Amino acid sequence: MSIPLDLNVHDYYNPTECTWCDGCGDYGIMAAAKRALVELGIAPHEVLLCFDIGCHGNASDKMLGYRVHGLHGRVLPFAAGAKLANPNLPVIAFGGDGASFSEGVNHLVHSFRSHYPVTFVLHNNANYGLTTGQASALTWQKQPMNTSPLGIPEDTFRPMEFVFAMHPTFVARAWSGDIPQMTRVLKAAIQHRGFAFVDILQACPTYNKFATHDWLLENCYDANDNAHDISDIDAAYKIACDTSKGVSCGILYQTEDVPHFYERLEPRKGKKTTAVDEVAITDVSKLMGEFV
Ligand code: SF4
Ligand code: MG
Repeated sequence: MSIPLDLNVHDYYNPTECTWCDGCGDYGIMAAAKRALVELGIAPHEVLLCFDIGCHGNASDKMLGYRVHGLHGRVLPFAAGAKLANPNLPVIAFGGDGASFSEGVNHLVHSFRSHYPVTFVLHNNANYGLTTGQASALTWQKQPMNTSPLGIPEDTFRPMEFVFAMHPTFVARAWSGDIPQMTRVLKAAIQHRGFAFVDILQACPTYNKFATHDWLLENCYDANDNAHDISDIDAAYKIACDTSKGVSCGILYQTEDVPHFYERLEPRKGKKTTAVDEVAITDVSKLMGEFV
């Protein structure tokens, strides 16, 4: 795909006041998302951006594109439905760790097993930031949070162990201070054949005092800088889960060999049109007349 000569990140600019805290990782993630789209030659009218509830969801009025800001934990069903209606449109779903691993974890499970051809970007700041710093399923042990000042009694969820148990076809991790890394990962995710899971470790200086920007800077390394084979799922699982020597980032695993949901749908096989092409406008005024 050639990039239109006049397309640049300013085309995604929306002059709405930014309300994120100073130093919030959302700024970097939004910048990388814009860059990735521009570098892929995708203009704002050529992409659907779906946002869950959370601090990150406020990007829905801070960057252009077709956008929807949905119910808490429900971003994936909406994104999948939209993609099935118009498979020609790149669809990116953004969700937080609270919504994605508690309220909406069921949708994450079924997005993996259904191989929806959607990019999912996890804003992983390890807390519920929008509602002022409550512990999420990904909050570290022994961290004092607003509703659990003595630490959480539950175990911290292990997202990568969960993700690899779902037979994924694309798994990547990045961190919110590295815009070139996020851009590279997001470009690959958007171009991926099926469901692409991108875990972005996000600095939240207001409520996350453990995985801070400086901690992430010190502990994250790019697995794609060394000899990691992204087609080797066992090696990917190992470096994704073993954080004893640092947190692996970059594209950790990818296979293009698995057909996605739309390709498996028997009623769509051989169709030259999409569902949106086939929607008929039906005059329901006569029917409605029966109720007045
Ligand atoms: Fe960002 Fe955290 Fe502030 Fe929310 S609370 S805007 S995630 S720094
Ligand atoms: Mg969160």
